Amino acid sequence: MTLYDDNERVFSSEAEAISRVLLVDDQLIVAEAFRRMFDNEEDIELHYCSSPFEAVAEAEDYKPTVILQDLVMPDMDGLSLLTSFRANAPTKAIPIIVLSTREDPKTKSEAFSRGASDYLVKFPDRIEVLARIRAHSRSYLAQQQRDEAFRELHRLKAQLERKNAELEALSCSDSLTGVLNRRGFDEYLAKEWVRAIRDATELGLLLIDVDFFKNYNDNYGHQDGDECLRHVAQALGAGLKRRSDIVARYGGEEFAVILPNTGIEGGALIAESLRAAVEALQVPHGFSEVADYVTVSVGLASVKPAPGQVPKRLIGMADKALYQSKDNGRNRCCLLSTTDEEEKKQTTRVGKA
Ligand code: GH3
Ligand code: MG
Ligand code: MG
Repeated sequence: MTLYDDNERVFSSEAEAISRVLLVDDQLIVAEAFRRMFDNEEDIELHYCSSPFEAVAEAEDYKPTVILQDLVMPDMDGLSLLTSFRANAPTKAIPIIVLSTREDPKTKSEAFSRGASDYLVKFPDRIEVLARIRAHSRSYLAQQQRDEAFRELHRLKAQLERKNAELEALSCSDSLTGVLNRRGFDEYLAKEWVRAIRDATELGLLLIDVDFFKNYNDNYGHQDGDECLRHVAQALGAGLKRRSDIVARYGGEEFAVILPNTGIEGGALIAESLRAAVEALQVPHGFSEVADYVTVSVGLASVKPAPGQVPKRLIGMADKALYQSKDNGRNRCCLLSTTDEEEKKQTTRVGKA
């Protein structure tokens, strides 16, 4: 009884999958014989192709789950047709049952080596044909499903990676100005610090603070203050030439610019050009004590980091230089360098008196 139930279950799951059979045989009588054989088999569809020359194209079109193919045809050698099916990507994996007139080991071996999946001698027993068609068809469909699931998995994985990259970029960018935020700054600086140690190169850092920005906010309002910060960030970003130079919002109205592979001389040129770029925006600031327009003070530091040192040291130096700029009258750049072991301070520009 149990055996019967099991069989029934197996049978019903077989019946759900339709076997699409492409028969390639030059003899119409063979096609008729198979048609009669499949007459009452609702799960088997038959498509007949009499010309081996059209067989590959018909297979691409019909998409069979199994091919029944004659081995001896007048115009084309059945073995060549096997090779054509196997050499063509869309038909490469379709199971092919070859139909031969005789049980000859040499032909059989040749057929299998050319890619045949099975071998039947004409005219095979009905039960055997049906069983083999269903078995090949089922394993082909299962393989197709596995391939499709695998492709879907790859597609989803790629989608997930893209989304993660977008999220990562979002989590590192400042929503007000669009430049890197503090987290992005920390990560980039840490990465460049390690690189500078490895390559024994200098690493430059600018800290840039808007002058009298509290006055700006208090008098023009917070929204105009935000707009002003956006303009400053944009001018700073536009003023950088190398792809590796990046601007970040360090906090509040303070920005930072990381300058990989940049010493104090090159850094000073960039610092001054960025200071001038903000001044050139000519954003009116009637409440600044240093100019009629929005200006920034810049602190520059550059070091050749040694193993064991941490980036905090460079930030501390740039911060010191920034305070120097504020102390010296704002709207200027000051620098601090340790390339010759001893920290030296230098004022590079004096602003409006
Ligand atoms: P100093 O010239 O010495 O730098 O003076 P300051 O007024 O610029 O400096 P202070 O640190 O006293 O004020 C900074 C102001 O920046 C205070 C704060 O309201 C403003 N601020 C910080 N973040 C934002 C922001 O996201 N949007 C706006 N609109 N203002 C901000
Ligand atoms: Mg300020
Ligand atoms: Mg500040």
